[in-house]
Amino acid sequence: MTTPPAVEADGMCPSCSAPLSADPRFVIWCPSCSWNLDPSAGTGAVTTAPRRRAERRREARRRADGATVEQVFRDLANPSRPPAVRDGSWFAAMAVAGSVHLVTAAFTVGSIGLLTTGNLLMVPVAAIGLGIAFVTRPRLGRLDPDGSPLSRSEAPHLYALADRVAAELGAPPAELIEVTPGFGMSHTRVGLRRHVVLTIGLALWEVLTPEERVAALAHEFGHAVNGDPRRALWFHSAVEALTHWNRAGAPGPVEQSGAGLVFLIMDWVAKLVMRGVHHLTELLLRRLLRLTLAAGHRAEYHADEMAARVASSAATGSMLRALVLGDSVETVFRRRSAVRQGTRSGRAPSRDQADASLWQELREYVASIPEVERLRRLRLSARRMSSVDRAHPPTYLRVQLIGARPPAEAALTLDPAETAAIEEELTPARTQAARVVMMS
Ligand SMILES: [Zn+2]
Ligand SMILES: [Zn+2]
Repeated sequence: MTTPPAVEADGMCPSCSAPLSADPRFVIWCPSCSWNLDPSAGTGAVTTAPRRRAERRREARRRADGATVEQVFRDLANPSRPPAVRDGSWFAAMAVAGSVHLVTAAFTVGSIGLLTTGNLLMVPVAAIGLGIAFVTRPRLGRLDPDGSPLSRSEAPHLYALADRVAAELGAPPAELIEVTPGFGMSHTRVGLRRHVVLTIGLALWEVLTPEERVAALAHEFGHAVNGDPRRALWFHSAVEALTHWNRAGAPGPVEQSGAGLVFLIMDWVAKLVMRGVHHLTELLLRRLLRLTLAAGHRAEYHADEMAARVASSAATGSMLRALVLGDSVETVFRRRSAVRQGTRSGRAPSRDQADASLWQELREYVASIPEVERLRRLRLSARRMSSVDRAHPPTYLRVQLIGARPPAEAALTLDPAETAAIEEELTPARTQAARVVMMS
C-alpha cells in the first residue's frame, strides 16, 4: 500500500516548487508537474499469485486497447489519412455476431425437428433446446426502469428542440423521450420496429448550459447517422444475448445442502456447465469489443464533430469537459440522501421543496468547482484513459480532437423563451427524478 503524499504546509509543490491547488474540498495537486494528480494510484495492491496473474492479464489488455485508442486518435487528428470504414475487424465482428445468432437458429430448428419425429422420448430434449433458443434469442432493447417517459403533449418544446437537432443531422426524430436522474444521455432503438428513444439524464442536463445541451443532443442523434457498427441490430442484439448468458452463468453464492448424492452431482455438473458458459461468453464479449473498438471510436468522434456543427465547437468542447464531473454529482446525491435519512422526522423541509432544491444544489456545487480541479480530472482522464463508458473514447481525447478541428459556428440557436419553456416542461420529471435519488 502506498500512502498519499503529504501536502506541504507552504502551499508549494514538493516536486517543482510551483504553487499547489488551494481548495481544501478537493485533492491538493500541482498543475505544473501533476504532482499528486491521482492520490489513489498504487493503493489496493494485489497480494495473491492468481490475482497478480489476473491483474497482469488485465494490464496487457489495457495496453493493447490503449495502443488502438491512440492510433485511432492519431489517424483522425491527421485528416490526410482517411480511415477505412469497414475493415477486416468489422467483418470478423459481424461473423462472430452471426455465429451467436446461428446457435439460436440451430437450437430452434433442431428442437422443432425433434418434435416432428413423433418420438415421445425426444419431447423433453426438444423442450430444453427450445428453452435455450428462447434465452439466446436476439434482444431488442428496453426502456430504462428508472426513467419517466414524456409524451409529445407533455413536453412540446423539448420534442421540438430534439426534432430540430435530428433534422439538422438528417437523423430520424425521437419517438419517445424519457428522463432519468442519471449523469448522461443516450440514444437507443427498442422493439422490433426499432423505435427511437432519447434518454436525458437530468444530472447532466441540469449542469449544462442551453448551448451545451444542444451539443449533447446532437451527439446523441449523431449516433443514428455516424455508421457505428456496434449499433447495428445484427451486432447489438448478439452482444445483448451474450451479455444475458454471461450474467446467467456468473458464479453465485455457494450453498450448503443436505440433499442426496445424486442431487449434489447434478448440481455440481450444472454449475460446471454454467461456469463454462460464463467464461466462453466473457471471452466472446471481450473479443467483440476489441474487434469493434477502432470503428466504434471513429464513430463516436464523428458524432462529436456533428455536435460541433450543430451547436458550435465551443459548446461541444465545454459539454465534453463537463463529462468529467460525474463524481461531483455522486457527492451531491450521497450528501442529500444522507441528510434526508437524518431528517426524516423533525423540522425537515417539505418533500416537494426538498425534491426541487436538489437540482439547484447540484448546479451550485458544480458551478463552485474551481478550474484547477476540472483540469485535474481531465488530466486524470488522460492518465487513466478514462471515458464516460466502455463505448466512448477517453474524454480528454474527444476534447483534444474538437480543439484540433477548425472552429465551427452553431447551425442551431435557441431563444431564451424556448429554453424557459423546456425548463417548465421538465418540472414534474425533475421532482420525480429527485425522489428516485433520495430513495436510493
Ligand atoms: Zn509541481
Ligand atoms: Zn456517444
